[in-house]
Amino acid sequence: MLLKNTWEKAFLKWLLDYCEKTSPKLECKNVLDKYGAIIFDSIYYHYLDPNFFCGFVILVCPPTMEPMNLTEDIQRIVKNKPQIPLPTPTRKSTFKVLQVTDIHLDPQYIANATVSCSETLCCRKPSNSTDGKVSGYWGTLGSCDLPLRTAEQMAMFISKNVEVDFVIWTGDNSQHDIDKTSNENIDNTLLLSSLFKTHLPGVTVYPSLGNHETYPLEVWNFKDNPKIYSRPEERTYAKNQAQFQSTFSSNWKDWLGAQSSQEFSKNGFYSSYNQKYGVRIISLNTNACHNENFYLLLDPTDPGDMLTWLNKTLAQSEQNKESVYIIGHVPPGSSDCFPEWSNRFSALVERYSHLIRGQFFGHFHSDSFFIYKSYLNKNETVNLGFLAPSMTPNSNRNPSFRVYEIDFDTKLPINYYQYRLNLTKANLDPTQPLQWEIAYDFLGTYGYKDLGIATFDDFRNQILKNQTLYSIFSLNYGAGLGGAPRKENVYCGSLSTIDQNYACLQQTFNITVEPGIKQTGLELASGIWFNKTSKAN
Ligand SMILES: [Zn+2]
Ligand SMILES: [Zn+2]
Repeated sequence: MLLKNTWEKAFLKWLLDYCEKTSPKLECKNVLDKYGAIIFDSIYYHYLDPNFFCGFVILVCPPTMEPMNLTEDIQRIVKNKPQIPLPTPTRKSTFKVLQVTDIHLDPQYIANATVSCSETLCCRKPSNSTDGKVSGYWGTLGSCDLPLRTAEQMAMFISKNVEVDFVIWTGDNSQHDIDKTSNENIDNTLLLSSLFKTHLPGVTVYPSLGNHETYPLEVWNFKDNPKIYSRPEERTYAKNQAQFQSTFSSNWKDWLGAQSSQEFSKNGFYSSYNQKYGVRIISLNTNACHNENFYLLLDPTDPGDMLTWLNKTLAQSEQNKESVYIIGHVPPGSSDCFPEWSNRFSALVERYSHLIRGQFFGHFHSDSFFIYKSYLNKNETVNLGFLAPSMTPNSNRNPSFRVYEIDFDTKLPINYYQYRLNLTKANLDPTQPLQWEIAYDFLGTYGYKDLGIATFDDFRNQILKNQTLYSIFSLNYGAGLGGAPRKENVYCGSLSTIDQNYACLQQTFNITVEPGIKQTGLELASGIWFNKTSKAN
C-alpha cells in the first residue's frame, strides 16, 4: 500500500497492533494492506471536505450541508401510507420460485485436504493428517467452501427434480478467501451463471450482489469519482468493479432485459418486471448498508441513492398496481446493516407494505425470518422477510436451497420447501449422483395454515414459549445441524432493524447491549447522514 506520510504509517502500525491483539484469527496485515488506502482516503475526503470541515468541524462557516434527522425522515416516509391490508391468497393456482444463496464456489477445493488450517479457508492443501480428518469429496462441514462438482450436481438435481418458474439468486458466489482475485470473482459468478443457463434453460434468474462478489472482499464503491481516490490500488479497485458491472450487465441481459441490465451496470441494483407471473422484482445492492464496506466511511448517506431510487420505484409500482418482491443479500434487520439505512428502508417497506408480497435475503447461511413492525402503530406487523440457508457448507451447514410456493392471484408465498443435502452421508459414496431431500416444509413442520403476518407473529411468540418448536427451529436454523441463538435473541433479532432488536432485548428481557457492541468503529466513523440537496460545492 502506498502510504502518504508519517502519520499514516504510525496510525497503520497502531491499527495492526490493535487488530492482532483483538482478532487473532484475522489476517490483520493482509487486511490492512488491502483496505488501508480506502480507509485513509475516505477519512480524508469525509472529514476534510471543505463543506464539512468548515461548517461542522471548526464551525467558522455557515453549514452548507444539512444533517438529516432519522425520526423526521421516518415520519415523512410513512405519513401517507394508505390503509390497504395485504390480500388473502385465493389458492386457485400457484407457481414456484427457487431461492439459491451463498453458494461460495471454491474451484480450488480438493478432497482429502486439511480441514483445520490457520487460513480463513481450508480444504485446499493435501493433508498429512493421520487422524482421518480430511475433506470429503462433495464438501466439508466447517471452514471450507463448495466444490464445483457439488454446484454442478445441484443444478442437475434441480433441473431433473424440482419444478421452477423463476429463480432468486441472492449473492455470495465466491469463496471466503481474502486473497482471491477480481478475476476469480468474475469467473466464479460466470461459472454459476452458466450452470443456471445450461440446466434451467428458459428460466429467468434474478441475481443480487453479495459482499463476496466485490474486490477486495466486502467493499463496493458507490462514488464513481476518480478525483477522490488517487492511489494506484484504488484505481485498480475501481477498474475491477467496473469490469464486474459491465461483465454481468451483459451476461445477465437475457434474464433481466436491456433496461434492467443497464440499470444494474450503474450501481449493482435494478428492478425488473416479470410479465408472465405479474410481479416486479427489486434487487438491492446491500453493500450500501453493509458494516464492513469501508467505502461507506467517505459518505454513508444513501449510497448510490438506492433508497431514493427504491422510493421512486415503489411509487411507480403503486401507480401501476404492481405486486413487488424485494431481494437482496444482507438482511436489513441484522447487525451487519447500518441502522441509518435499515430504519429508512423499513419505513419504505411500511409505506408500500400493501405492494410488497415477499422479501428474500441470505448472507447469514442460516434459516430464519424477519418481521417488520409499524412505526405508526408499534404493535402492528406490516411485512415479512425470509432468510434462506446457504449452499456452501461453510459455517457448519448442510448445502441447502429453498422453493417457495406462490399464490398466483396475490403473489403471496403460501408455503416453502427446504431442500437439504446430508453432506456426511453423501461423502460416503462419491460415485452416486447427489440427492437433496425436502428436509421440511413450513406448514407441515410447524403446523400453520399459511405464511402470513399472523402466522409469523405467532411463530415468534411460540419460539419463546414452546421448547419443542424452538428445538426444531434451531435444528433448521443450522440446516440440520442446529446452533440458533438463544430464544430471546431469536425473538428480538427477528425485528427489522437492529435498533428495534436492542430496544426489544432491553424492554422485554432487561438485557442491555453494551455501546461498544451496538456501534461498530466503521459506523461511528461514518457518522450521520447529510442532506444532499444542500448548496455545498
Ligand atoms: Zn455468505
Ligand atoms: Zn454475505
